[in-house]
Order: sequence, then structure tokens, then C-alpha cells
Amino acid sequence: MIKINENYLKLQASYLFIDIARRVQAFQAAHPEREIIKLGIGDVTHPLPDACIRAFHQGVDDLADARTFRGYGPEQGYAFLREKIALHDFTARGAQVAADEIFISDGAKCDNGNIQEIFAQDVRIAVPDPVYPVYVDTNVMAGRTGSARDGRYEGLVYLEGTRENGFIPALPCEPVDLIYLCYPNNPTGAVITREQLKAWVDYARENRALILYDAAYESFIRDPALPRSIYEIEGAREVAVEFRSFSKTAGFTGTRCAFTVVPKDCMAYDGTGERHAVHALWNRRHGTKFNGVSYPVQKAAEAVYSPEGQAQARALIDGYLENASLIRREMGALGFYCVGGENSPYIWVDGRRDSWAFFDLLLNDAGVVCTPGAGFGKCGEGYIRISAFNSRENVEKAMGRIRSALMK
Ligand code: PLP
Repeated sequence: MIKINENYLKLQASYLFIDIARRVQAFQAAHPEREIIKLGIGDVTHPLPDACIRAFHQGVDDLADARTFRGYGPEQGYAFLREKIALHDFTARGAQVAADEIFISDGAKCDNGNIQEIFAQDVRIAVPDPVYPVYVDTNVMAGRTGSARDGRYEGLVYLEGTRENGFIPALPCEPVDLIYLCYPNNPTGAVITREQLKAWVDYARENRALILYDAAYESFIRDPALPRSIYEIEGAREVAVEFRSFSKTAGFTGTRCAFTVVPKDCMAYDGTGERHAVHALWNRRHGTKFNGVSYPVQKAAEAVYSPEGQAQARALIDGYLENASLIRREMGALGFYCVGGENSPYIWVDGRRDSWAFFDLLLNDAGVVCTPGAGFGKCGEGYIRISAFNSRENVEKAMGRIRSALMK
């Protein structure tokens, strides 16, 4: 009799997007004439930058020619891409990251989810609330939590984001070993300052903890005072792994390319207290379970760093940021407290009522779909997330409709 991993039975079914789809479908069936505008999802809507498309085509052509054909590539990614990342994303910004500390992958979701495998079963884990669910669910699957009670898993330390702390949680009161942080944040859109991030790095150094820093939305940061990488903080190389993605940076959500930075100074400990390089462990895991991102996709990602690619990717993000700023301005003008929407594609709105009630109101009275904050954790109750990933025209239309609906 084949037995299952019973930890999977602890997982709370994520009804969030199913529930949203069901409500949207019911609304559409009742009002077939009404056009719905979706500001709920975290997927991009604009095509890939032209420079990436051209490089992508060239990559395919290279595979069609015996002289340039390539089979398996290095599991960690081609040097041409790793070197460009190290230079443009880190060294040029004063953060010391070498090309061989960068692991190319097919997604920050997979990397965020897989990294827990290299740590002990009994590590004490801190996760944000509200949270990008991958951090929690992958640890539940691995058996590092108890059962869920009242929306929270036993055994996890929840770092609460609230209106009072501006959705930047305080340092934990109890000792933790593994800390998941995400800035600019999904779902709240909050950004972290250098001083705030330094407090986390100092905490990790003092407690021999490790920070898993998810910077998937880094390219939305426009304020030069904000850190774009955790390695801009002194001492972070010893205590932090950083996750990045081309998904939101350059519209690669369907193309799939991301990378994880594991500095060679980053250490974890065995049962006797002996130090081990996290780089070696991750390299082993990556090489054993992953066979690399396809060559044309890595060529397309490399093109993000060409002068045209940089300009085109920036223009893409600028468009989403203008949407975000419009949404934040409009919701603020309607009297709602908002976080995010600046240096971030998400706007987190205190609806002053139940998350789902606000969702229903926006759907039924404005034909606009958002995401109820309660789906991201206990601290999300009362909030909604509005996403800037849509066309300017649709965002303007949506905001006009919300204004009319709320001012009725
Ligand atoms: N991390 C965060 C915080 C995200 O919001 C997302 C996607 O929405 C990801 C990671 C996933 O990125 P990728 O498309 O590279 O898997």
C-alpha cells in the first residue's frame, strides 16, 4: 500500500482564487452585458520587450544550426547571463555579488519553495502575515509545522504586518533561524528602508539566522534611497539569500526565467555547530534536481541588460507604476488608507469592512475585480489588494467606475 506524505493533509485548501473566479463567473452570468476589469491578478499584461523577442528568436535560430547548436547547458545557467546579472544588478550598484554566486532558474516561485529542503527539519521559521503563500505551504509540505488552527499553522512564527507598523513587521520576540522577507512586498506593496533592512540583517548576524529575501519586484523601486538588493546592506552576504525574477522585471511570467543569489560567505550550521556554505548545499541541490533554463530563454533574459533592453524594460515598468500611482491617488482621494503603489505594482487598501464584502461591492457595483486581503493571512482581513498590471485605459476606466460606485 503506497502511503502519502500526510503533511499535505494539513494544507489549507487555497480557496482564494477559486472563490474569486466563482464570484466573477456568477456576476458575469447575471450581467452578460457588463464588462469586467481585472485588477486582481499578479500577472503582467504587456508583451515582452522587443530586444528580448529578437534575442529569443536568435536563440532559436542558434539551435537550428549545427555550428551553434547547444544541448544541456550548465545547470546554474550560462556565464553570459550570470555575468551580466552580477555586473548590472549588483556590482554597478555597490553590492558585491560574483557571477558564480548566481543560480539561474525557471522561477522565483520554485526557488522560494525549494530552498527549505537544504535546512534542518526543526529550524524555527518566521513568515510574514500577510504572506506570499509559497513560503508557508512549502514548509507545511515538508512537515515543519503542526496543523492549521484559526488560519495559522502551529510551529510557525508570524511576523505581523499592520497599519500601525506600516506593514514592516517588528523583529521577532522569540528566536528564529529562517526568516522570509519580501520587498517590495506582495501583497501589501510596502517597501523597506535601508535602516529597517539593516535591523533584520543585524538580527540575523546576532542570531546566526538566515534571511530569505524575495526581491521579485525590485525593478519597481524608483526611489534611490531604497535598497534594491539586501546585499546593499553591510554584512548581508553572510546571512542572506536573495531571489529575483525576470517575470515582473521584463514580462517573463510565461517565458520563465529567474535567479537566486547565494553568496559564498553565507553560512548555516550542522548539529555540532560546524559551519557549512549554503552555496555548496544549494549548488548540490540545484545540480541534482534541475537541468537548466533553455538557451533561447536565457538569451532573451540576457537582452534585458542591453541598452535597448534596459530602456524597454524600464518603459514597461514605468507604465505599470503610472497605473499604480493613479490607483493609489484615486483610492486615497476616496478616503481610503493605502500602502504600496509607489515603488511597487500593488496597492493595499484598508476597505474599512470585511475583505470579501469590499470585493463584492467592487465587483457588483463597479465591475472591477480585486483580491481580498484575507486570502493572504489573518492580518490581511479588512484589506484588498489592487494590482496595477493592466492597460492604462482599463485602470482609468476601473477607477472611474469605483469612484461612481462608492459615491452613490
Ligand atoms: N515572489 C513573489 C513575491 C511573487 O509575487 C511572485 C509572483 O507573483 C513570485 C515570487 C514568482 O515569481 P516567478 O514568476 O519568477 O516564479
